[in-house]
Amino acid sequence: MIKRPKGTQDIIPGVIEKWHFIEEQIKKICSEFGYQEIRTPIFEYTELFQRGVGESTDIVNKEMYTFWDKGNRSITLRPEGTASVCRAYVENKLHGSPKPLKLYYLGPMFRYENTQAGRYRQFHQFGCEVLGSDDPLVDAEVISLVWELFRRLSLKYLEVHINSVGCQTCRAEYRKLLQVFLEERRNKLCRDCQSRFERNPMRILDCKNTNCQSLTTDAPTTLQNLCEECQEHFNRVLALLTASNIPYKINPRMVRGLDYYQKTAFEIMAEGIGAQSAICGGGRYDRLVEEIGGPSTPGIGFAVGIERIIALLENQNTNIATTKEIKVLVAAIGENPKIEGFKLLTQLRQCGISALMDLTGRGLKGQMKYADREKIRYVLILGDDELAEDVVTVKDMILGEQEKIPMDSIIKYMRNEIDKTSCSD
Ligand code: ATP
Ligand code: MG
Repeated sequence: MIKRPKGTQDIIPGVIEKWHFIEEQIKKICSEFGYQEIRTPIFEYTELFQRGVGESTDIVNKEMYTFWDKGNRSITLRPEGTASVCRAYVENKLHGSPKPLKLYYLGPMFRYENTQAGRYRQFHQFGCEVLGSDDPLVDAEVISLVWELFRRLSLKYLEVHINSVGCQTCRAEYRKLLQVFLEERRNKLCRDCQSRFERNPMRILDCKNTNCQSLTTDAPTTLQNLCEECQEHFNRVLALLTASNIPYKINPRMVRGLDYYQKTAFEIMAEGIGAQSAICGGGRYDRLVEEIGGPSTPGIGFAVGIERIIALLENQNTNIATTKEIKVLVAAIGENPKIEGFKLLTQLRQCGISALMDLTGRGLKGQMKYADREKIRYVLILGDDELAEDVVTVKDMILGEQEKIPMDSIIKYMRNEIDKTSCSD
């Protein structure tokens, strides 16, 4: 039997309802906060991610699905959303619209990772990007959007970790300080970190290796070395979070993976889903748009991993109501009744009444059982006798009553019944 590729998942009925629920909440909240949806291609030219995510990141270094297409172009399945959104912003000249531009996306991402619980090769992200303002209000707004989403999803035990990684000016100074500190410990670091030493020494602080972590416990932090402007920006963001009642924890070691992060960096961590506890990551990227060839434009965004939200909902036993939609089963018995039944089914559906007909040749008893199991309240029985009398026998499965209704008034009758009972369903 052919299996699905490693690191992918089938989202099947019974689970998809959770996805729909989360997606609906996302769309609703984004519209309330004034964010518009953007959809970009699933694949892009590889160069976009090399420039937009950064050569020294894990993503570009080892996690991309890259291939040559038939026209000899290097193509990559998107590993994240920000670079594509910035490209689309420049390509579609969206900088002409009133500032800032507030966008969101929702869709699959692809990373060639070592798979483990909560870590897949195709996974899904919801993300927001705000382009055109470096006001700390925007930083606070995106965090409060995602915080409010989690509140509406009833997620518990969450923590916002926040840091400032500084700007080009203070970071250059800091990088030197950090390299001085790391120099004498260099040989003891893991292989990955040794190669990070030149490329991206800040990433060493983020290493998951416990030895590297203990070697860098006393390393200088960006927070201790912020310039005045970055410090003021950070203070404002924190004050705004406090004003909107969002609990946060300053985490001076959190530097995040992307090369273009500046000033604010944040993650939201959750208890109860094991090692992969980050459910949201984001930050400010004031140089990214310029880096991919656009006008200098500040930006900030985040991405939420949907699979991890689902795992958390399951872990916290949060029930998501999965309402059964079908109201009517047309139970036609016999060849002619089936034709009439199909006609009735069509009319019910045209009137927006959710209805089904048996598709497997069950007898009347079997169809009743089916309606019962599927919690379909009304069964419309149509046999040769009903045809002869030009009526339909309507059985209410909850009350256990049945009644004959003339064929020409059945739609009106069903509409009334459903209106009457829909509140008590
Ligand atoms: P990590 O350090 O865990 O690899 P990351 O920094 O690579 O995370 P981001 O690129 O910030 O993650 O992605 C944002 C969110 O997307 C993460 O917080 C996580 O919830 C989710 N995510 C990232 N990679 C995966 C994956 N391979 N499978 C499932 N979800 C993922
Ligand atoms: Mg990663």
